[in-house]
Amino acid sequence: MRSKIVAGNWKMNLSQQEAKALCKEVNNMNIGSEIEVYIFPPMLYVSDCKAISTHVKVGAQNAYPKDTGAFTGEVSMWQLKEAGIEAVLIGHSERREYFNEDNALLKQKLDAALAHGIKPFFCCGEPLEIRQNGTFLEYVKKQLVESVFHLSAEDFSKVVLAYEPIWAIGTGQTASTEQAEEMHAAIRSWIEEQYGKEIAENSSVLYGGSCNPGNAQALFACENVDGGLIGGASLKAADFSVLVAEGTWTILN
Ligand code: PEP
Repeated sequence: MRSKIVAGNWKMNLSQQEAKALCKEVNNMNIGSEIEVYIFPPMLYVSDCKAISTHVKVGAQNAYPKDTGAFTGEVSMWQLKEAGIEAVLIGHSERREYFNEDNALLKQKLDAALAHGIKPFFCCGEPLEIRQNGTFLEYVKKQLVESVFHLSAEDFSKVVLAYEPIWAIGTGQTASTEQAEEMHAAIRSWIEEQYGKEIAENSSVLYGGSCNPGNAQALFACENVDGGLIGGASLKAADFSVLVAEGTWTILN
């Protein structure tokens, strides 16, 4: 059975005190055993959050594929592992857009994360013009082919995918359930082509893009949506706890 996951991407937000306080609140939420909750705080606070969390998993929003060396400003997967960090976001659209991360670099990051036993959350998704010109399925498939589908079946089984249409991230405009389900079903069919039915059925594919307490239940109830990667709504404990509860509710019903 595939894992159901609700994950919060805090991006470059919060002071250290605010991050620690939010981490405590998330950790105190009523999280059923049917669901996994991850938080991705800013890099400076991952160790603080790790020290506080008992059952919420802590990940980094980024890391570099080389282990050590002259890469000023970067933090490696190897260093994350040493600090007890369990997961890493790879391929978030903001990294692709503002830091020019391409499919080839993301492939290296994915390989490095897996080599160090860190769970990769690999993000894919199309910009607005690609949604509008109708080539969004091909666009997302290319992202997966060029960065992910070289993995062995064993390694691929450790990856969480997150479909995040760029036009829905931070815009308040979410994908409709039909749009989300169409893409998620397509992603699962490509996984099946590549790795077979069993792995496809057991792969977690999250939705991200303006998920909030008002729309999460419908999105999470889609057959091929296994939870969410949440940006803005993960910064408020009250909103995030509704999303965690929606995830749990959807699984139980
Ligand atoms: C994200 O950045 O991964 C995200 C989904 O953001 P938001 O929920 O704010 O759209």
